[in-house]
Amino acid sequence: MYLRPKTLDEAVSLLASAGGQILAGGTDFYPALGERLPQGRVVDITALGEIRGISFEQQHIRIGGLTTWSEVIRTPLPGCFDALKAAAREVGSVQIQNRGTVAGNLCNASPAADGVPPLLVLDAEVELASAGGRRRLLLEEFLTGNRKTVRRADEILAAVLVPRRMEDAASVFLKLGARRYLVISISMVAAVVQVDDAGRVLEAHVAVGSCSARALRLRDLERDLVGQAFQRGIGAAVKVEHLAPLSPIDDVRATANYRRDASLTLVRRALEACLETR
Ligand SMILES: Cc1cc2nc3c(=O)[nH]c(=O)nc-3n(C[C@H](O)[C@H](O)[C@H](O)COP(=O)(O)OP(=O)(O)OC[C@H]3O[C@@H](n4cnc5c(N)ncnc54)[C@H](O)[C@@H]3O)c2cc1C
Repeated sequence: MYLRPKTLDEAVSLLASAGGQILAGGTDFYPALGERLPQGRVVDITALGEIRGISFEQQHIRIGGLTTWSEVIRTPLPGCFDALKAAAREVGSVQIQNRGTVAGNLCNASPAADGVPPLLVLDAEVELASAGGRRRLLLEEFLTGNRKTVRRADEILAAVLVPRRMEDAASVFLKLGARRYLVISISMVAAVVQVDDAGRVLEAHVAVGSCSARALRLRDLERDLVGQAFQRGIGAAVKVEHLAPLSPIDDVRATANYRRDASLTLVRRALEACLETR
């Protein structure tokens, strides 16, 4: 059965009463079915205008659960969103960016989801709505593994909330694939760096995707960067040991060793590139 509720309340009560698979842009949903037809109830959420678009709140920037990648690209946003915008431009093709949503990317929870590293470095939270109310949790806690999240089947990801704390920080997203366009990454890196008046790193966040079951922050590196002069050559501060949390695999796209080497280079380049965007 195909259902297309008009309001979030209607959608969550449909999910609470009889369940169903949520359909947004469909750009992960349909490819995952292959030749099969959807089974059971499909709850198409694309008519929920109330969760579309990006708005500025006092503490957060709210990316509604139906916001597409094209909307992210089009909306004027502070510098710390440059990484997310760069990732948005890398998601598939323009057609995919016009249909695919940020929330769908997060709920699908692929290790290679381009939206995850840029949102992890922004300390983004997700807001989950159900008939029982709303709850918020860090994106880092929401994603638990390869295609795994803590979302309950009756919950809709209603918004991604980005704290406004690091708005003027420089941010960069780098994606390495086997070709330039329409490609799933071998490794990808997002970095955001905030600098004090003396030109030293006040706060730096770095996340790597496609090299573990879910994208990860490199916390030891982030700690080691604090207080360093933010100048050309900052990339040399990144050591092999900083990438120890990653657990890349061999697959059709690359070997684990290649992924590890490439990630080291990408992290170094991302930090140097942050310097250039200031
Ligand atoms: C040709 C092609 C190229 C692609 N290239 C890339 C790429 O380069 N990088 C990349 O990261 N991805 C890529 N994708 C994957 C996809 O486009 C993105 O992940 C997209 O953001 C998914 O959003 P969607 O709205 O289409 O999700 P859907 O397909 O509608 O849904 C995906 C999953 O999330 C669930 N879901 C969706 N929205 C919600 C919500 N609000 N609350 C709860 N659950 C929800 C659905 O039930 C489903 O399980 C590509 C896909 C295609 C077909």
